[in-house]
Amino acid sequence: MKRGLDLVIVGGGPAGLTAYIYAARARLRTLLVEKFSPGGQILNTDRVENYPGFPEGISGAELMERFLAQARNLGLEPLLDEATGLTQDGDLYLVHLGSGETLVSPTVIVATGAGPRRLGVPGERELTGKGVSYCATCDGPFFRDEVVAVVGGGNTAVQESVFLTRFARKVYLIHRRDQLRATRILQERAFANPKIEFVWNSVVTEILGEDRVQGVRIKNVKTDEERVLEVGGVFIFIGIQPHTEWLEGVLALDEGGFIITDAEMRTSLPGVFAAGDVRAKSCRQIVTAVGDGATAAYMAELYLLERKA
Ligand code: NAP
Repeated sequence: MKRGLDLVIVGGGPAGLTAYIYAARARLRTLLVEKFSPGGQILNTDRVENYPGFPEGISGAELMERFLAQARNLGLEPLLDEATGLTQDGDLYLVHLGSGETLVSPTVIVATGAGPRRLGVPGERELTGKGVSYCATCDGPFFRDEVVAVVGGGNTAVQESVFLTRFARKVYLIHRRDQLRATRILQERAFANPKIEFVWNSVVTEILGEDRVQGVRIKNVKTDEERVLEVGGVFIFIGIQPHTEWLEGVLALDEGGFIITDAEMRTSLPGVFAAGDVRAKSCRQIVTAVGDGATAAYMAELYLLERKA
């Protein structure tokens, strides 16, 4: 059992790292736990163009490297482990880890983010890593001169479709409606790209292939007409799923599993705060994650002061 902490931050994406920076400057004894390596979903983004201060844009990896360097300057030594449970002992919280260790702290910031939502169609699970992907930055270069499909109509689907045209000969963008959800500037770029063909009002019903993806069966939701598109890869970007399995029954979650907070990042448990994509909110951006992280750390500091008083 590790005791003597003021704050445990779970998750090392933009929200968690910002919370660390604020907590360290407040001189809180803080430990940040991260499952893999710090950075979060942004590491999978080729180009970030809407984070202020970088007028030419910046790669997701470089932006995260800068966040990390700043946190390291303030003493960050992340503990690589997975949080598997949260329980209470009086007014202290126990964060249970996959390694078997337990961290004891009066305050916790949950910044575990989210991962890709699955389509749930036949072939998806079997062919993941064999042509089915959830990360264009990671897998796009494997599809040079091939035809690929992207599923979804949000910012991720549209931004990554444009990115994939660097490698692929052709990108089908399959969307279930006849209008994109993505922000206008991204839409304009996609519409202007001759390599992208839009497949409107259509859903993927099956991913085809034995050892590799060979095609997708799609259905037009207006006409019920089915057809097969021959593609070598399928990139699925249909939204995100919060990493909150370990908090079910512990914190109040919304119907999608996102943590419900107030505007000050307080969760249903006093002393436990949530920040970033894991939180129920409408605008999921790096800048909002960073804002959440700062607020959560500040509120944790206030909570500790009031607890002592
Ligand atoms: P999103 O905004 O939730 O969009 C998900 C898309 O997938 C929607 O177009 C949705 O269709 C579609 N979809 C959902 N379930 C589906 C299903 N079962 N079958 C087929 N299509 C389905 O998710 P996201 O694009 O991954 O973005 C996640 C968050 O990150 C958002 O807040 C986004 O703004 C942010 N983000 C921002 C940027 C940026 O600023 N450059 C880049 C990436 C992500 P409907 O439209 O019909 O609902």
